[in-house]
Amino acid sequence: MAAAATTTADFRVQRGQVFVPCQRFNWDPLSTFIVNAVDDGKAYVVIPFGGGRFHPNGRHKWVSLKSLHPTDRTTQGRERKTGYRLHTDAPSGPRQYLCGSCLRYFDREGLAVASYGPASSTCHGCMADIHQTSPTATKD
Ligand SMILES: [Zn+2]
Repeated sequence: MAAAATTTADFRVQRGQVFVPCQRFNWDPLSTFIVNAVDDGKAYVVIPFGGGRFHPNGRHKWVSLKSLHPTDRTTQGRERKTGYRLHTDAPSGPRQYLCGSCLRYFDREGLAVASYGPASSTCHGCMADIHQTSPTATKD
């Protein structure tokens, strides 16, 4: 209990954090986003998927900080029905790339495919999964 309370108290929305909906069935690409800036009780976020065809840097929107949470549980331990929970914390250093599949940060060595676009890199673990689940990816 003490650890959970500390985590919640320490929670601060920062640039680079990745959020997903608290409700898992809601977890579609368009409701997953990366914090780009925080201003006056709101976060300016980038939605890396879905809008990339028209906007190289994805879609943007403002989200109230009140709907961003450290976990999908309330401080009383109840499941949250609305809002977003932290999926990945901000990168630890400048040379960190977001894997577009698992949405975790990796350094260059951790990536099978490196790209500068938001969430357009692929880590080694996800690349292995891709090869396993789609056999055509390994054929010529
Ligand atoms: Zn990955």
